[in-house]
Order: sequence, then C-alpha cells, then structure tokens
Amino acid sequence: SLSDKLDSIFKKLKGRGLLKEEDVDVALKEVRLALLEADVNFKVVKDFIQNVRERAVGKEVLESLSPGQQVIKIVHDELCELLGATNQRIQLSPNPPTIIMMVGLQGSGKTTTSSKLARFFKKEGRRPMLVAADLKRPAAIDQLITLGKQIDIPVFYSKEIQDPVVLCESAVRQARLEGRDIVIIDTAGRLHIDEELMNELLSIKTKVNPKEVLLVADAMTGQDAVNMAKSFNEQIGIDGIILTKMDGDARGGAALSIRNVTGRPIKFIGTGEKIDMIEPFYPDRIANRILGMGDVLSLIEQAQKSFDQKEAEKLHKRIMEESFTFEDLRDQLKKLRSMGPLENLISMIPGMGKAVKDIKVEEKEFVKIEAIINSMTKAERNNHNIINGSRRKRIAMGSGTTVTDVNRLIKQYLEMKKMMKMFKGGMGKKGFKLPKF
Ligand code: GDP
Ligand code: MG
Repeated sequence: SLSDKLDSIFKKLKGRGLLKEEDVDVALKEVRLALLEADVNFKVVKDFIQNVRERAVGKEVLESLSPGQQVIKIVHDELCELLGATNQRIQLSPNPPTIIMMVGLQGSGKTTTSSKLARFFKKEGRRPMLVAADLKRPAAIDQLITLGKQIDIPVFYSKEIQDPVVLCESAVRQARLEGRDIVIIDTAGRLHIDEELMNELLSIKTKVNPKEVLLVADAMTGQDAVNMAKSFNEQIGIDGIILTKMDGDARGGAALSIRNVTGRPIKFIGTGEKIDMIEPFYPDRIANRILGMGDVLSLIEQAQKSFDQKEAEKLHKRIMEESFTFEDLRDQLKKLRSMGPLENLISMIPGMGKAVKDIKVEEKEFVKIEAIINSMTKAERNNHNIINGSRRKRIAMGSGTTVTDVNRLIKQYLEMKKMMKMFKGGMGKKGFKLPKF
C-alpha cells in the first residue's frame, strides 16, 4: 500500500524531528502516483501536491508517527478538507415542495438515482413525487414509471406534452395539489454536452426554481469528469453532486476532481444498481479509498492519541534501574490522569495484571497524591528514606492532608517499588519492549 511504500522510503531516515524538503518530495512522488492511479485529474493532482508540500515541509513529526505516516496524515487531512469536511445533506425548502432537479450525462445514473432519492426521502417519512422530464427517449419515461411502482411513489409523466418546461410546471402544480413535499425531476441527458441540452435544462431551472440542482456523475469516468462537471456548473449552476457507480473498481478519484473544479459538495454516492444502494457521502471514507489504505489511518489516529512511547520507554528504563522516585511518580501521575487509575499503567506491563490489586489509586486521589508529592523537598522526593516523622508532619501540613495520608502514599510507593523489583527479577536480563498503548 501507499503507506508501506512511504514507510520504506523513510526507513533510511534516522531519528525524527522536522520533515525535510527532500524527504517530503520523495514521499509526494508516491502520493502523486497514487492519486493518478485513482483517476484524479492531473491538474487537480498538481495543485493538491503543491498544497500538501507547503503544509508538510518543516512540520514536526509527531512522536507516535513515523515520518511516512506523518506525510500520509497530512495528505489525508488535506484530502478530507478538499472533499468537504463533513457530510452535507440535501437542503429542504421552508415552503414545500422542495424541488430537486437531477442533471447529468446519459447513462450517468440520473433515473436510477432519482428513484433512490425518492425512496430515501420516503423512508424519512416524506411524500416525494417523481417527474419524468426526459422526453427525448420514450423508454426513459417507462423506466421511471417502473421504478416508481417498485417503491410505491407516484411518477408524474405525460406522453403528449412535448416541452419539458411545461411538463415540470404541471408536475409542481400537481404536487402542491396532492400535498407532496418533495419533487424530484429526472431530466434528459446526452452522451456529450451540447447547447440544446444545456438550454433545455436552464429553462427548466429558471421556470421551476429548484431548491437543489444535483449533478449525477459516474465515478468510473475519471479524467473526463472534470470538463463535464465544469460545463454543468458554469452553464446551469449546480448545488451538489451525486457520485454513482462507486461499487465498481473506481477508486473515487472523480470525487476529488469534480469537487475541486465545481467547489460543490458531494452529497450522496451510489453503490449499486438496486434501489436501496445509495449512501450519504463521507469524505474520510473516500479519502481512504483514494489513497488505497483502508485501516492504516485509523491505526495512525490511535497512535496519535496513545500514551507517548518515548515517555513510556523512559519510565521503563527508570523501573529497570530501580531508581523510580516520587518525582517520577508525580510526572507519571500528571500524564496518567487522562488514562484512568494508576493500576492501569502497571497492569499494562505484561505479567503485572494480577499483582496490582493492592495498589488502588482512585481518580479523585490523584489530586491528593500530587499535593503530597509537591510538598516534599527535592531531596525527599529522590530519597524516601529520609522522610522521618517530623518530615511527614510537615508534608501533611503543607499539602492539606493528614500524616495518615502521607504514610499511606509512602507505603503504596514502597509496594510499587517492591513489585517493580520483583518484576525486574522475573523478566531477568532478557528485557522487553513496553507495549504501545
Ligand atoms: P441515466 O441515463 O442518467 O438516467 O442513467 P440510468 O439511471 O438509466 O443508469 C444507467 C445505468 O447505470 C443503469 O444500468 C443503472 O442500473 C446503472 N447505475 C446507476 N447507478 C448505479 C450505481 O450506483 N452502481 C451501479 N453499479 N450501476 C448504477
Ligand atoms: Mg434516465
């Protein structure tokens, strides 16, 4: 996968630090290929790479990521941003019916998608109506009638009316009469964009004033998608995109291209020929698909959220050296507070799970413990042996706790140390790596 490739590129890199220009460029060469393979338009790819490059060079590599993963993360974030940060729904009119006009080339999936949307809205409890406004091909009317029957949604059509504008106006009137709250207009398409088609669509748009004009685009068209989307947007004006045939082996590059040239959100994707095969569009899913990396990103996310590995290793080293002091305990507590009880940390160390029952440190006790440790002198923190009776009294006073509290903490601390020693003995000199958590 792309991520593997990038990781091997970065393997040579020693250490972490900042992403260097040369390294980013090597990585982006791979990203560029991946995008082109996914059928993203080459101009779009060029701009995209340029943006990512600017964002990536000089950026600090997160402790929990490899440089390769870091670049992937930047690429992924940028992709999601370009695709639109969140899922965008179809806008509904405050004064029903909401009129939705479907446009697109012939075969892109307008008729199928119109029915899918109608069914989608019906399931939401609305009362949609379909309009057969593709008058060029009689078969197109029959196709919609058949689909409408399947999902039990009325289809407005006429085999006499020649003018699609007149037909659409009648349809809207009828919808009002019947109390339909959504009108979905299935328009004619062509194999290629021509002026006659654009004029027809523009007249319909002007006359019926739809709330949304949705461009239906075939995800398999790849590079051609850009010019098509551009023409529809410039000549008619679109409000959103529905990308069909995402069930095929299209990697979804068309999504990025179309979104990029129109600036309009992708609202749904079609995932099959069947009437229920439509899904809201989620940018991150498509980003993963374009990059061809599936779960890699969720792994990266996890790594980022997780406890800092370097810190864990430091602690591990201290444990092994038996030099775990109150100061270490305090440092760890600060980091641990978001992770839950202290025993969790210990129980994450292999073989320690059952041994920690005695050391119960409740969440609310963190504050107390920290206060006690803060009231110790540096010398006391680093050497518990000097903490005698009068020192304990002073620490209790200073921390607003009692001598019993201080005694208990020291006892817990000593038990921890004892266990760490046991644990060290048990593991011998073989050593091990702390698990990544
Ligand atoms: P129109 O000419 O734009 O109205 O396109 P149609 O709705 O007639 O669809 C053209 C072809 O694409 C039909 O065979 C549909 O079954 C098929 N189709 C539409 N949407 C999808 C989809 O999401 N996935 C798949 N696999 N096929 C689709
Ligand atoms: Mg059609």
